[in-house]
Amino acid sequence: MVGGCRFAPDELDYTCPQHGELGTLDIVYDYAALRARLDRDAISGCQIANHWRYLPLLPLVPDSQLPPLSVGWTPLYRAQRLAKKLGMQRIWVKDEGLNPTGSLKDRASSVVVARALQEAIAVVATASTGNAAAALAGVGAGLEQVEVVIFVPHDAPPAKIAQPLVYGAQVFLVEGSYDDAYELCTQACAEFGWYSRNTGVNPFTTEGKKTVALEIAEQLGWRAPDVVAVSVGDGSIISGIYKGFYDLLQLGWIDKLPRLLGVQAEGSAVLADAWRAGLAPAKITRRAVSTSADSIAAELPRDRSKAIRAVRASQGAFVTVSDAQIVETIPLLGRLCGVFAEPAAAAATAGVKQALAEGIIDPDAETCIVSTGNGLKDIARARESVAAARPIPVDIDVVRARLEEIGLL
Ligand SMILES: *Cc1c(COP(=O)(O)O)cnc(C)c1O
Repeated sequence: MVGGCRFAPDELDYTCPQHGELGTLDIVYDYAALRARLDRDAISGCQIANHWRYLPLLPLVPDSQLPPLSVGWTPLYRAQRLAKKLGMQRIWVKDEGLNPTGSLKDRASSVVVARALQEAIAVVATASTGNAAAALAGVGAGLEQVEVVIFVPHDAPPAKIAQPLVYGAQVFLVEGSYDDAYELCTQACAEFGWYSRNTGVNPFTTEGKKTVALEIAEQLGWRAPDVVAVSVGDGSIISGIYKGFYDLLQLGWIDKLPRLLGVQAEGSAVLADAWRAGLAPAKITRRAVSTSADSIAAELPRDRSKAIRAVRASQGAFVTVSDAQIVETIPLLGRLCGVFAEPAAAAATAGVKQALAEGIIDPDAETCIVSTGNGLKDIARARESVAAARPIPVDIDVVRARLEEIGLL
């Protein structure tokens, strides 16, 4: 899909040896052959209610063993009340928080573990701000052949540290940032010969994440919306979404690419800044970041080449939102859509509001918001976003008085 170096499927596991970390690989299919062999209506009629319904569009051997967790096929809600509130015509919300470990990362981990099973790889490791850790540990749980090793920053939200421990992974709490954990994990994989699920370098993660785009298109009746909004840290999800729509366009199953709106936190906006400045990915350098949306804190976004390409090639844009905008969006999604989002997930909706205000998207653009992770992942931020509930004595008169106070009686 882009020029440059080409390799046979089994030639490389990670990045292009000539281009290093910037040379992240795309898995390219024989689209003509797939077009001749596959039928989108057959997929629509298939009974598999998870992302394995797209197995023919994934780089896995058809009859290989698959990890047991049921990942994907999450609901796509028509969010009419939210659309009205934002002054838009049509908004869809894809609730990825309903994946088995509570985030979109399950998609990537599931395809990486399937690959590990296929290749008889015994140990898979990842660095993570928390969700990829939970996802890899959860997907690997229950599989005797696969051990999971996790590197997370010691200050990750408690739920994200508890999950991989409960799933039985080996967890290293790194005294440093996510990027420090990433470097350490990369070193450990090289030293001990483990398979790295690390975001960016492993092209199977992109292929897993692309299944969210396949689902959005299928759930809309094989059509792309005008805009897809998603929050961005390393840039791997947005790259996967681009790849999914790109594959479908090559197959002729959709007739356009949606514009991709990448949303970053103001305090962690390495990609948004690079995009605005027209900076080449090779010129992007690591810098300190700070945001309460921990899943999108990335000092050196690992999928920077693909993420910037995804936004450029789809004629999309990046926007940034403050932590205050993110936190106030959490109850908005809850109240208007029934979707409980963690801060990084709510950021996408805050970004749509921001993009409207900046005139980047039109109010009549059909927009799909990908809510990437579950609010239960970070209860502390959820509680900050709403007024606390006050305890009451067991007394009906107090209930009556309270109802009068708030005008419900
Ligand atoms: C990982 C993650 C993101 C960002 O994805 P990147 O691939 O790092 O850009 C956004 N939201 C949630 C909930 C995540 O877990």
